[in-house]
Amino acid sequence: MAELPEIAKIAGQMRGALRGKTIERAELLQEKCLNVPPGVFQSRIAGARVEDVRYKGKWIIHRLGNGENILLSPGMGADILYFEDGKDAAEKFQIKVLFRDGSGYTVRFWWFGKYLLASDGELESEPNTKDIAIDPFDARFTPEYFAALLRGKKKGVKAFLMDQKNVGGIGNMYMHDILFRARLHPRRKISDMDEGDIRRLYDAIMGVLSLSRSKGASAYEKDFFGQKGGYGMDDFLVGYKEGKPCPACGAAIVSIKSGGSATYICPACQKA
Ligand SMILES: [Zn+2]
Repeated sequence: MAELPEIAKIAGQMRGALRGKTIERAELLQEKCLNVPPGVFQSRIAGARVEDVRYKGKWIIHRLGNGENILLSPGMGADILYFEDGKDAAEKFQIKVLFRDGSGYTVRFWWFGKYLLASDGELESEPNTKDIAIDPFDARFTPEYFAALLRGKKKGVKAFLMDQKNVGGIGNMYMHDILFRARLHPRRKISDMDEGDIRRLYDAIMGVLSLSRSKGASAYEKDFFGQKGGYGMDDFLVGYKEGKPCPACGAAIVSIKSGGSATYICPACQKA
């Protein structure tokens, strides 16, 4: 599942490859991932130029020159693949966008994703993306900002970080090692954390996500050009390592359920 390092990488690649291109047409084969009927979608984007591509949380947003915006969410995962020439396009897709120069891209959702349209006027109130908070790669995400964000909060730390209204872009995959590096149990209450805990958590978030970014993001996801990243199983400390020894103390790593998803922890280093 794509999280911040993967989304930031692919959005950057899409910006480089697509900016300035004019959309010829789109093949929109899965109506349930759209927010307007395919014919309407088609007519609102055809002939428009891609002005910019950016991301917000786990969403990729294309700004078009005609006052429209395309919002793409890979959901549980998606292959979003560029092609220079139509003959090289992936065969299986739910969405195919073709540009005037003959290039394009396809989107194949692994499970279920979203491909939405919003005009400039609608974008600010778009229900899926309007409340997404800034992400750890944003220059404004400083230790002071993070400490202020946590002040007065009572939730468990994992539930808090998973909520995109608090922090954009973090999901379950990087959470295991973030909490392990910070030596925090997933259900640890934020109100019970001291300044040192908060600073360790901040450093853990930045450390884990930056390490993945520096390695080209997840080894289990393809980028816009079909390449996999370099952040693989050897890079995880406790994530997906049930029964293996904790790298800090040697105790066996366990998987616990919290908030509907599993978290891998060291029961000795991350006390409840
Ligand atoms: Zn340990």
